Amino acid sequence: MRRALIIGNWKMNKTVGEAVEFARALAASLPDPVGRDVAIAPPFTALYALAPVLRATAIALCAQDVHGEDRGAFTGEVSAPMLLDVGCRFGLAGHSERRRLFGESNEDINRKVKALLRAGLTPVLCVGESLEEREADQTCSVVRRQLKEGLNNLPADDIRRTIVAYEPVWAIGTGRTAAPEQAQDVHRFIRQFIGHMAGNDRAGEVRILYGGSVSPENAGALMAQEDIDGVLVGGASLDVDSFRKIILY
Ligand code: PEP
Repeated sequence: MRRALIIGNWKMNKTVGEAVEFARALAASLPDPVGRDVAIAPPFTALYALAPVLRATAIALCAQDVHGEDRGAFTGEVSAPMLLDVGCRFGLAGHSERRRLFGESNEDINRKVKALLRAGLTPVLCVGESLEEREADQTCSVVRRQLKEGLNNLPADDIRRTIVAYEPVWAIGTGRTAAPEQAQDVHRFIRQFIGHMAGNDRAGEVRILYGGSVSPENAGALMAQEDIDGVLVGGASLDVDSFRKIILY
């Protein structure tokens, strides 16, 4: 049984004070137990302050990015052991904004996934096609390559521990969501492909999240799909009420 997981990706939003205020309000508004896993991915600057606020709650911390090496001369970067040290449980790797705006390759992302696993964090490997790729009927080939190279050389049990987030680039921050059945088709494909890489039993345990303009209005229909095990939420996670509605849908 795969437990639902909802992650809020705040991107480059919220000061430390705003992040703490949000976390307190969200934690106070959720029932105990929540019945699903919840995490927020604030900017790096807010992680340390949020850890004690979230410690006694059901909300976990997720990093938005990580460097592939554990330490060294990499000015501006943050390593997986550092993220563990400030209380993170999850880390995103290969968000489409990192791929598109910062030129991250599948090889870079593979190093990030491995670094997160080495540190004992759970990687959330983001995959997804652009609008041009979808229109050229390349969705499956693009996603297959991102999975194959992003999970390259990982032992099957590490693949089982990894979470995949399918985020069609054309649906991120655009207000355009994939129809639930359209998303389900890609999620089924992802699970089948992971089955080739790690065996069907392990693939059956991998959580596959959907991301792309998720809102309180569409979250329930998306999560009702057989292979959609939760959502990765950007814009709608910045407001306590809309994020709470998505968590509890
Ligand atoms: C995201 O950034 O991962 C995302 C899905 O953003 P949004 O929900 O705003 O489309």
